[in-house]
Amino acid sequence: MKFLEAILTVASLASAAVTAVPEQVVYDGFKVFRVNATEGLPSLKSKIASLAQTLELYSHPDHMDVAVAPSDFAAFEALDLPSEILDEDLGASIAAEGPLVSYKSLAETCSRLFPQNSEILEIGASYEGRQITGLHLWGSGGSGSKPAIYIHGTVHAREWIATMVVEYFAYQLVSGYGNNATIKGFLNSYDFYFFPRFSYTQSNDRLWRKNRMPRSSTSARGTDINRNWPYKWEVAGGASTNPSAEDYKGQVAGDTPEVKVLKAFTDKLAAGKGIRLYIDFHSYGQYILLPYGYSCSKRSGNDAKQESLAAGLQSAIAKPYGTRFTYGPICSTLYAATGGSTDYMTDVAGTTYAWAVELRGGSSGFVLPASQIRPSGIEIWQGMQSLIPSL
Ligand SMILES: [Zn+2]
Repeated sequence: MKFLEAILTVASLASAAVTAVPEQVVYDGFKVFRVNATEGLPSLKSKIASLAQTLELYSHPDHMDVAVAPSDFAAFEALDLPSEILDEDLGASIAAEGPLVSYKSLAETCSRLFPQNSEILEIGASYEGRQITGLHLWGSGGSGSKPAIYIHGTVHAREWIATMVVEYFAYQLVSGYGNNATIKGFLNSYDFYFFPRFSYTQSNDRLWRKNRMPRSSTSARGTDINRNWPYKWEVAGGASTNPSAEDYKGQVAGDTPEVKVLKAFTDKLAAGKGIRLYIDFHSYGQYILLPYGYSCSKRSGNDAKQESLAAGLQSAIAKPYGTRFTYGPICSTLYAATGGSTDYMTDVAGTTYAWAVELRGGSSGFVLPASQIRPSGIEIWQGMQSLIPSL
């Protein structure tokens, strides 16, 4: 794969992540801490929210990872929270992370190596008018003749490793079709759809999560696309109603342009040959997450089979480097999440297996050292080679 020679450049610190300024945001001097949530996550979250320039990276029932701005160091210390430092200088880690993978080069590879069995899809525009672009691959049965394996990556814009892993997966199929009988079998059995996308984080703010849509009632910008899908969106407790929050759900179910576009495309796949497997790749935490997000007690109709496939995927992923992934339903394994794509895929689109996979994280969370990018791709591809024949 080729890599873009784009690296974030330094701009003004004044444009913090929470404001709606289309300037580049830098994280030089930010420190990343893992804060123990012994006092309970809601209370901890509100303390962190009181720090003006500090960014929540990740929350887990037991801890939160936060990027603390230099201007907040004193206030953070005054909170006297039980914490450990993960990264002394987030800006330096971003600089060391290296350039991004180029989706364009994958498209070029497809048109060169696989012109009769691939197409680039442009399914609609994001809030900022960028086309949501995908790659469709198929085998001997022809385009659209088989059930779908449907892959999303980087729906949360800062989770770059998801794009790279999804592209690595697609690249293995394209390059293996002509010389590997197993891979040829995959493509002859399924139509593959890949949506590995990101944009704003490349040029402006490495740690932006949500979409870029403003709301009339607030200066905060962005809705969490993975809390906005129109299924069980209204259930309380699985997303935030605060527009400043990283998991802001929106005003109405499915009211973001991105979800509208993705939903329409999903419905089209469901009405065609159906969706056998959907995986939404995220980072980080190393989880294989099964339905459901909206309820901790409800299980999918084929839950036993889902658990056994996830166990197989877990052990296959561990083979190359021993990386340990945990699996289980989203709500009972991690936390309640409403308006997520996997619940929609399962109950509305009739997807047989609809999962979210949280990939590796670096010491500063979403920013992964270059040395871990290829291994992440390799271990997930190992997992996919084990999973696909069992579907
Ligand atoms: Zn995510």
